[in-house]
Amino acid sequence: MLLEEITMVEFEKGLERTKTIIIPFGSIEEHGSHLPLLTDTIHIYEVAKEASKIIPVYVAPPIYYGICRSTRDHCGTITISGDALRGITKDIVQSLYRHGMRSFILLSGHAGGTHMAAILEAGEWLKETMPQIKIAVVSILDLMASIKSGVIETERDSHAGEVETSLILYLKPRLVRGKGRKEYPTFPNPILVRDRRIFWPGGIWGDPTKATKEKGEKLFNHLVSEVVELVKRIEAWAE
Ligand SMILES: [Zn+2]
Repeated sequence: MLLEEITMVEFEKGLERTKTIIIPFGSIEEHGSHLPLLTDTIHIYEVAKEASKIIPVYVAPPIYYGICRSTRDHCGTITISGDALRGITKDIVQSLYRHGMRSFILLSGHAGGTHMAAILEAGEWLKETMPQIKIAVVSILDLMASIKSGVIETERDSHAGEVETSLILYLKPRLVRGKGRKEYPTFPNPILVRDRRIFWPGGIWGDPTKATKEKGEKLFNHLVSEVVELVKRIEAWAE
């Protein structure tokens, strides 16, 4: 049940089947010179939509904007504050709770540490504030952990590399411009730099030249089954 397609009547009726909703979190962020700015939003929304074909679950329209710390200096990246992300997360969950939703999966296609920390903080606040709520916070990298070694050849592949290029090759091939180049950033940690592009010119973390559509299909199917399992787990969860 996609919120972008159903009516208020269908929303209410659907609550007889499930009170679980997936809220996809994306980003508008550079993904090298070969993938679209919307990459994170595209793959995670497609995963959520596919999961909803397999198991009864609502899917909210994605939150397109996220916190992009490492890529904020690259052209096209739009980053928001932690206050903004925590605020919109709380507001959306509270609104859906008012209409009967009880289990929430906050599913993020963007896995940046600062970004995930803000969603986690909002999740903890919501859990403490609303006694009946069940809430899970998970990123695409978390869900990928158990398959990566079998399918993905690149070590530490995390941004616009083999994984994401494979996913977009499978989901939206017309949006992929070539294969990109292998690259890893060379930030002088722990010093915070003013222009990250100097240390990370191509904006790729991993090796997109190893990407294929077939890997994308395997990764996508794995992600969908992990989300379906998570829906079952959260619905059965009781403490
Ligand atoms: Zn990404």
